[in-house]
Amino acid sequence: MTSTMEWIRRTYDVPARHGMRIEYDGKPATIVGAGGGYLRFRIDGEKRRTVGHPCYRIVYPAVPEPARPRGWCQCCLKDRAMTKDCVMGNHRWYGRNWSEQCPGSGKFPWKPVRNLTHPGEQRQVAA
Ligand SMILES: [Zn+2]
Repeated sequence: MTSTMEWIRRTYDVPARHGMRIEYDGKPATIVGAGGGYLRFRIDGEKRRTVGHPCYRIVYPAVPEPARPRGWCQCCLKDRAMTKDCVMGNHRWYGRNWSEQCPGSGKFPWKPVRNLTHPGEQRQVAA
């Protein structure tokens, strides 16, 4: 099963993870979960959780570039390391047979993994 958080990362090119510190509408917050394509997070000092679109007024922390570029495998749709030839590195998959090499190994990724910090709509800041 694919987690919703992974779906959000793959769909919106953001580095969202459980427990990640983000900024929502200029306020510091912590991601506490995901569901239905939306993020759940708790703004510092607030008791209630807020539900928001992953690309609406959220600023994600910058994630350091990995030593090897990563891509979303077009076969297993997982975040995997790529080779220097820009194809998916060898990896196993857990679809039918869990010792099988993923058929996506050695192929081009569905798309590269990106970690956008300011996706989508942001509050307009007066210059
Ligand atoms: Zn794969």
